[in-house]
Amino acid sequence: MTIHPNSIEARDKAYHLHSYTNARALERDGALVIERGEGIHVYDNAGKQYIEGMAGLWSVGVGFGESRLVEAAAKQMAKLPYYHTFTARTHSPSVELAEKLIEIAPVPMSKAYFTNSGSEANDTAMKIVWYRSNALGKPDKKKIISRTKGYHGVTIASASLTGLPNNHRSFDLPIARVLHTSCPHYRAFKTEGETEAQFVERCAKDLEDLILKQGPDTVAAFIGEPVMGAGGVIVPPAGYWEAIQKVLKKYDVLFIADEVICGFGRTGEMFGATTYALQPDMMTLSKQISSSYQPISALLINENVYQPLADESAKIGTFGHGVTAAGHPVAAAVALENIRIIEERDLVGNVRSLSPKFLARLKSIADHPLVIEYRGVGLIGAFELVPREGFAAGQLGPKLFGYLMEEGVISRAIGDSIAFCPPMIITDEQVDDMFDKVERGLEKFAKELT
Ligand code: PLP
Repeated sequence: MTIHPNSIEARDKAYHLHSYTNARALERDGALVIERGEGIHVYDNAGKQYIEGMAGLWSVGVGFGESRLVEAAAKQMAKLPYYHTFTARTHSPSVELAEKLIEIAPVPMSKAYFTNSGSEANDTAMKIVWYRSNALGKPDKKKIISRTKGYHGVTIASASLTGLPNNHRSFDLPIARVLHTSCPHYRAFKTEGETEAQFVERCAKDLEDLILKQGPDTVAAFIGEPVMGAGGVIVPPAGYWEAIQKVLKKYDVLFIADEVICGFGRTGEMFGATTYALQPDMMTLSKQISSSYQPISALLINENVYQPLADESAKIGTFGHGVTAAGHPVAAAVALENIRIIEERDLVGNVRSLSPKFLARLKSIADHPLVIEYRGVGLIGAFELVPREGFAAGQLGPKLFGYLMEEGVISRAIGDSIAFCPPMIITDEQVDDMFDKVERGLEKFAKELT
């Protein structure tokens, strides 16, 4: 790509430090400039059209260019562009959104607490767990268990919960009191001859052994995504969540469901907790809560969490936590309208009805000799490439990603897996269009390898 000295690309290189990017590679290659979006498509500044097969970052559920969200934002911006929710102030968008979230929660929840990102929601969940343990007079019950390959964000606390090496390496993480248990990826982590049921039993035993080793009186909570997203779209094997939840109950360990990706329809139910019969005490929500048109996240807590917290705040005189833009009226108004759209257009029903085709197309890709496995549920899925001599682990995925970009499909390379999580408005024909392009890209990639 030729980069003109005063172009967006050149100025981006000069001034902009990017997330999840090799800064030296960016200095050399520049960034892709996305200029606009419409439906399931986005367009770069050369006019090339892409199917946004990842809905941005697993997030633009209602698709791009949704005028109802633009109008909701403009209307709220004109009425009350900002107000806070500190020191017993409130405004109707945050109240209405809190009420709506408690109404649609898959299990009885008591209160919604607002933040701006998934990371902050998980950070807050961790602080509330600690606060609650102190309130209950259990100052040693503070450890939180997460899973290898789980993804919970990037703040100091949430990056510690995240179980991926790149989020720890050179950041001096994880912090103390965060522990990781095994990842439920059967194909990758099964032992010789181990059945799926035996593997599930072992995952639950790993968790129980960890709790016993640490001392049940020191373990306060467990956090997990119903389906792991950024760890590679790891769909839990049958019986996994039932076995894990049994252990959590046995040792009085709170369950935090990180629904940042799964929430608002992605798995074919409004929440992943319904798909997998989860009984969380706390849930973190973001991304599809507003289709990411505005930054907003929420933490739902049940009575079992709320009551001690309320007592502690009365004892201290305040719940000393909160960020300036929490429950931002514009973001809350957009989230409310977004949830209305999901409900009115039955986008969860659309996910359910297109899922068989989506998964069938992934399954047929998995028949390709270069592909070892496909995984998926609802409209989230991935296929994984067979390891290959001459390529280090994690080198093939990004290469194939490039071929798919040439075909006009934005996917996500996670190591040697290629993930898909298209906007939930996608149609039957568009699912075919996306996978036809993916298959063409895969064939070209295969030719290059031979
Ligand atoms: N939790 C999950 C499951 C996520 O996938 C993500 C982001 O991808 C986060 C938390 C962090 O959210 P954010 O990037 O908004 O901080």
